[in-house]
This record gives sequence, C-alpha cells and structure tokens, in this order.
Amino acid sequence: MDEQDFFGEGELVAVLTTQPLDRKLDYKAPEGGCFRGAFVEVPLGPRKVLGVVWGKGRGDFDYSKVRSVNRVLDVAPMRDEMRGFLERVSEYTLTPMHAMLRLATRAPGLSDPPSMRKIYRLGEGEPSRQTDARKRVVETLTEYGGLAFTLKELSDMAGVTSSVVKGLVKQGVVREEDTPRDVPFFRLDPEHAGKDLTADQAAGADALRAGVRSGKYGTTLLRGVTGSGKTEVYLEAVAECLRMGRQALVLLPEIALTAEFLTRVEARFGSKPAEWHSGVTMTERRRIWKMVGQGGAQVVIGARSALFLPYQNLGLIVVDEEHDTSYKQDDGVLYNARDMAVLRASICGARVVLASATPSLESWANAEAGKYEKLELTSRFGEAVLPEMKAIDMRVEDLPGSCWISPSLQRAVNTRLDKGEQSLLFINRRGYAPVTICRACGHQIGCDHCDARMVEHRFLKRLVCHQCGETKPMPEECPSCHVEGKLAPVGPGVERLAEEAQTHWPEARLAVLSSDLFGSARALKEGINTIAEGGADIIIGTQLVAKGHNFPLLTLVGVIDADLGLQGSDLRAAERTFQLMRQVAGRAGRSEKKGQALLQTFQPEHPVIRAILSGDELGFWKTEADERRHAGVPPFGRMAGIILSSPDVQQVFDLGNALARSDGPLRAIGAQVFGPAPAPIARVRGRHRVRLLVKAEKSAPIQAALAQWVGQFKLKGDIRLSVDIDPQSFY
Ligand SMILES: [Zn+2]
Ligand SMILES: [Zn+2]
Repeated sequence: MDEQDFFGEGELVAVLTTQPLDRKLDYKAPEGGCFRGAFVEVPLGPRKVLGVVWGKGRGDFDYSKVRSVNRVLDVAPMRDEMRGFLERVSEYTLTPMHAMLRLATRAPGLSDPPSMRKIYRLGEGEPSRQTDARKRVVETLTEYGGLAFTLKELSDMAGVTSSVVKGLVKQGVVREEDTPRDVPFFRLDPEHAGKDLTADQAAGADALRAGVRSGKYGTTLLRGVTGSGKTEVYLEAVAECLRMGRQALVLLPEIALTAEFLTRVEARFGSKPAEWHSGVTMTERRRIWKMVGQGGAQVVIGARSALFLPYQNLGLIVVDEEHDTSYKQDDGVLYNARDMAVLRASICGARVVLASATPSLESWANAEAGKYEKLELTSRFGEAVLPEMKAIDMRVEDLPGSCWISPSLQRAVNTRLDKGEQSLLFINRRGYAPVTICRACGHQIGCDHCDARMVEHRFLKRLVCHQCGETKPMPEECPSCHVEGKLAPVGPGVERLAEEAQTHWPEARLAVLSSDLFGSARALKEGINTIAEGGADIIIGTQLVAKGHNFPLLTLVGVIDADLGLQGSDLRAAERTFQLMRQVAGRAGRSEKKGQALLQTFQPEHPVIRAILSGDELGFWKTEADERRHAGVPPFGRMAGIILSSPDVQQVFDLGNALARSDGPLRAIGAQVFGPAPAPIARVRGRHRVRLLVKAEKSAPIQAALAQWVGQFKLKGDIRLSVDIDPQSFY
C-alpha cells in the first residue's frame, strides 16, 4: 500500500516532536489539512512544540480527546528522503528520533512568521534641494538600475550618512520597502572563472564531473598530496552540480579554514555560498535553513551538522580532509559525518567526494575493496615537490635537560634565517608545560574534577584542565606538602618551546600558532595571513598548523617530538601519527622553493617513523591493514564503546558488571564484551567513567543486539549511558 501523502482536516496524523518521548503522538490534521512531512506546531501539555507530520496516526486513543495541530509552518515540508535519512542515522547510532529531529532543525525561529527588513530603491520624486551627498545617492541607485539596497549598503556605497538616505525617503526620491529577511543567496555561476588545470588535475576533474552527471550515487576517494590542487579539482565537480541545477555541500573540518575557502569559491563562481557552522549568527542560520529547503542556496560550506540541512535537491557532498577526527564528535548525537555523508548520498542519489592527502584507513580499505572509486593526484601544483624527510636521532644529540631543540635542528633553522626563509617548529601540545611537579614531594598538580593533570598556560598565567576547561592560578606552595617555591614545569608545550626558541634566536621574529591564543576565528585567520605574508621568521605551532593553511615562504618543518602520538593504547595511534606527520611535513616547500622536514625521534627504527620517512604510504597502509585484519578490529570488524558515568563510583561499576554478566543478546550474534574498565580519563567534571567495549564481526547485526542488551537495564538516578558505534578513540 502506498503511504498516504495528504491528510484532510480532522484525519489522524502521527507527529514526531523534538521532545524526549519514546513515540510519535497522534493529532488531528488542522483546518485545510496537511501534507506528510509538514512542519507543524502542536500543543503538548501547556506548551507549543515543533513537530513533523510523519504519517498516518495510530488511532489507539479516544478520538474525541485527540488534540488538533495548531498550525502548519511556513517552511518547505520535510522530504521523504530526509525522513528516511534521519531514521537510518537513528538506527545506526542508536539515537532516539526526537534527538535526530533536533539535529535537523537546529535553526531558531522556524515557527516565526518571516521577519521583514527595509530595503531602498530609486523613487519617482525630485529632491527639494540638491547637495553633493544627495546626488551621490541618486547616482548610486541609477548606476545599479532597479536594484535595491539595505540602508547600510546604500549609505556605504554612496559615502553618505544614513540620515541623508532617510531625508530622501521623506521626499519620495528614494523608496523604502519591506522585504522578507530570509532572502535567497546570490546565484553562483559555474562558468564564472574556470582555472587552468594541469593534465593530472583536468583528468581528475573529468572523472568527477562524469560521476555528478550520472545522477546516481557513488563515492570517490580523491587522494592528492598536499599542494596537488585537490580543491580546484573538486570545485569542478561542484560546477557540474550547479549546471545540473542541483545543490552541493562541502564539509570542512575546522571553522578557521572557512574564510579562506569562501574566498576561493567566490573567485571560482562569482558569489559567496552559504556558510553553516557554530560561528554563524542565529538569523543567518534560519535564513540558510529555509533557503536550502527552497533551493535558494546552491552551495553550502559547513561543519558536520550541515549534513542535516533540508536540501531540496542535493547532488554532491565533498568531505574535505576526510581523515580528520573532528568529523566524529558529540553533537548530542554521536555520528561520523564522513560515513553519514555516504549514507545520505546513497539515499538521495548524490555523489560523494572524500578528499585527503592522507586518507583514513577506513576509506583506503573501501577503495581497495572496490566500494569507492579511486582518484589520485600525484604532481604538486606548480614546481613545488614534496619535502625531503629525515630523522634526527635524539639518542645521539647533545642536549641539556629542559631543552628540546636539538643542535642539528638549530643548524637547519640558522640556514633558513640566513636565506630569509621561514621555519616551523611543531609540537602537538598546547600551553607551557604538560605537567607541574613539586620538587620537594613529587606531587603533580591535577584537576579537582577530572583525573587529568593541569597544564600550565604562561600567557594566561594559569593552570588549565584540557578535559573540562577548569582553570586556577599557579599556586605559590605545593598543595600537598605546602613547601613554597618548589613547583616546576616538566616537559614542553608550545609556549615553552617559544621561550627556548627566543633564547637561541633573539633577533628572529617568532609567531606562536595555537588555537587558544586567538580570541576568535577571525583573529586567528588574520594571524595566519600575516605569517603567510612573511610576518615571522620562525613559526611555533600546534596541530592547528597541520590543517590546510598555506605558508608559501616556509621551507623547513622541525617536528619536536615525533614519538608523542605513538604512546598510548589507541587503535588508531599509528594511523594518526602517520597522517599528522605527513600533513605537517607537507607545509614545507609549497611554492617554488624545495622544503625539508626533520623529525626528532628517540626511535628512528620504529615501523611508523620509518614509513613516514620513506614516504612509502602504500606499504604503511598495507601493514596497518594486515594488523587490524588479524585483530578483527575496524575497518575489518565492528566495535562499539559504552561509556557509563555517574558521580557515584560504586554505582557505575555495579552497572558495568551487571551489563558484562548479562551479555546474552551479544553472545547471540557472536560478539564479545570487554570490561568494565575505568575509561582512560576515569573522571571528568566530577563524574566517574567506566568503559565497556563490544567487538563483533563485520557482518554482525550489532545495533539490534546492542539495543536489546542495554535495554535490559533501567538507568537509575544520575547515571548516564552512551553508546558510541565505530568509536574513533577510546576515551
Ligand atoms: Zn610538594
Ligand atoms: Zn578537569
């Protein structure tokens, strides 16, 4: 039977709301009826809440007592494909539907009537007295024909104060009109300014265009070394999507990258696309949400939640830097944006481009298995080539304690300084020192709320917990033995490294790039621009510098501690270190000057370090894939993490043990449970955390079994349980 599409007045409809209820609620269709998918306002107790008409009502409730839908909202109804997508994500991530709907309606004021704003255009009247300022306003309006402007635009362009414009309105020279605030975005022109592509890039662009033209689902892994022009290539797929009248979404891993990217898109297509991330104003979010649904936004550049916008006709999703771990984070729903992009595209017949210089093992394995198409860009754009990579064996370097820049690295920096070129010293640790220890009693200063050590931030003059954000001033005396003046920093952070660099090179201009040292994304962007233009001789940076920023004058990268990421028991430690080192090294020599990357390491013969140095990427992936295949872990097996947390340590362990004992539903599908064990950070914000890990074969129906397994228990008191399918790390 076909699903019913329209419900006449008084017919029962099932409405999904954003409220935490375990079912959809029946309502009577309002006057004039409503379509399936309609966004509605419904009464719930004394409140009015947002909902979506999901289908026919269940009718298991006294009809006379069923309340009516208040009204249908003035926004495009949710499309079938979107409802299907939300249901599939909900099943996959074991997230209740109300939370999915919340994620899909994260724009305020959707139920408000469209708000209006004033615009100004040329009127019929003549000014009573002509002044230069008045003349400029009339000239500006005449020059742009019938176009309308906001008050600010018009006064800025004419170079007058807004009262001049207001004066002309009174005389009828300028007309003031009300127009809806949520206006469409400017059209993007796919033919605006095509870039000259190298043969390699042109071939890649052709393949991606053909995929988009097919109008069918498919995923391509676009692999290109840093500087190979991946962006230019996938923007041609966006162009093809625009020619076909479909919408495109480009996901970026970090807001700081958006500004630079928007400029590139504008250069290619003549206008700015829509921009969706946490830094966008609330009014703008509502405008984007509505326009995406009506087709008034052709291209969206955004963070992972842009995946849940109500596209009218989505034809392409690009996931840039697809390996980036920030695609998997908690938005209230634990999902991996890369994987969900593939799911969404497969539902709506769109193409996916996963772009990276250093793909994730998951994507690499999918490409090897033929599930994804593979595209490789080998030559770097222009003359530049990949930097030469070498290890500095720290076991033989003569280095005093509490110094981290080896003599060999110092010499390499000196050479760059003499030539007027830039160097980057990389350390993946924010703050001054990761540990503060008492030299009298050995006490290490920890966070009061977490089982984490506090990190000294000298710029802030405070200790900061990187787990929960708690800060406190550096104490004068040891909190444990109360001896004064014995607290000492241990180990390097980016601030301490800058201090050391200052002593070696007092004349050099230093710039420290760490996410916490800039007040806003804009300030950060400006800082990066200044550096890129030559405003610094030596850059001291954290992971932030690894992400796509372009420093054309940079010819040397020195990695202070290449071994840092290899410690710890994380499944992806090797993969991450490999990716990070390759990305950081790729910052050097991006213009015509050849670059060099030097890795300080105590274990130069470690397989991961050797793979990084030799540039044998294929060899690395194969070894890593073999190891994971043997261990039956992702991407060759399934895993799920269960985190229990509570202020009461006994309570979490009791529930953890009870879960481990009642593993029947998991054993039924051949899955194993490990734990409970204290989570690697065993206490965060005063809550004790216990972790269980579930491991299953790749084909096992793990979601259903997990739901049944945890469903055996009712959560009492303040205890929380969260399920993380395909965990990225085991925190
Ligand atoms: Zn002490
Ligand atoms: Zn803390």
